[in-house]
Amino acid sequence: RRIQASLFTLASRMDVVNKIAAGEIIVAPVHALKELIENAVDAGATSLEVLIKDGGLKLLQITDNGHGIDKGDLPILCERFTTSKLKKFEDLSSICTYGFRGEALASISHIAHLTVTTKTKDSSHAWRAHYDSGKLSPAKPGQSADPKPIAGRGGTQISVEDLFYNVPTRRRAFRSTSDEYNKIIDMKHGDSGTSISVQAQASAIGRIRQIHGGNVANELIQFSTSDDRWGFKAVGWATNANYHIKKTTLLLFINNRSVESSNIKKAVEQTYSTFLPKSGHPFVYLSLEIDPQRVDVNVHPTKREVNFLNEDEIIQCVCETIRGKLAAVDTSRTFMTQT
Ligand code: ADP
Ligand code: MG
Repeated sequence: RRIQASLFTLASRMDVVNKIAAGEIIVAPVHALKELIENAVDAGATSLEVLIKDGGLKLLQITDNGHGIDKGDLPILCERFTTSKLKKFEDLSSICTYGFRGEALASISHIAHLTVTTKTKDSSHAWRAHYDSGKLSPAKPGQSADPKPIAGRGGTQISVEDLFYNVPTRRRAFRSTSDEYNKIIDMKHGDSGTSISVQAQASAIGRIRQIHGGNVANELIQFSTSDDRWGFKAVGWATNANYHIKKTTLLLFINNRSVESSNIKKAVEQTYSTFLPKSGHPFVYLSLEIDPQRVDVNVHPTKREVNFLNEDEIIQCVCETIRGKLAAVDTSRTFMTQT
């Protein structure tokens, strides 16, 4: 009985440990959503739909049209370090997808009610599974925990309900659900309403127009640059010197992932400072393709800030290119007003 009792203590301690670990990865609904969106992208989804209730604390639901999950993988899906994205050790250094740690779903299952509905193209129907603390769990007490067959389209729907329901301190820390919703909207860069859907085929500039409006979209200059020495390619759109906004908007993508880099932001602001009035700031969309071996994505558990090799050189190349474009437009403007 002693052994049983101490095993019990150990198990409940592990539960606490898991919850803490989960809370480090998922600090706010927006982090859960980002992980889920990344998973959808990794699954080859070309369109996805997001539903949010109460700032994501009541419900976060994302439905994708990706390749789905094999039924056989469902029992272990939410175990820690379960990932389909790491086939062999060498992949570690050249992984192209952000998620290779297999911790997101596991974490979420420890601090929310998680439901997965999924259909691969080889399956005639979808399967639905519920998870609790890393394991399959029954939808209702007394029922079987096995995945149930259900009608459904190809792809995966993940529902996260009652996030932090068992972490009262974290739950109380959220003063308003609208704050959390705003963080989500910030991540999505615009758009409102409870459902956000992204069309697969829209061009980058089309999306900028759709989300940020024609005012910005009409003022953009396209730029591109690359350098094999630093293993990168950059393409983007930046507002011209005739246009400015109150706060810098930098939409940064590295290998098609939305990330943040305060260094790039600073350098971009610096570049514009000679072209814009003191209170004016640019809008810049920058997509960097960097040799995955040179990118370190695991700087922070929430994986927004990214580090990469030769950061200074790459930033300099990009900013020089933008500066060149701004100067060219600037002289043609001066020239035109003079004639
Ligand atoms: P990681 O993304 O780091 O592998 P996750 O916990 O985010 O870890 O996901 C675990 C695994 O679940 C993934 O490796 C993938 O096999 C599967 N998975 C998660 N979400 C999806 C999805 N939307 N479509 C297909 N498979 C998914
Ligand atoms: Mg993932």
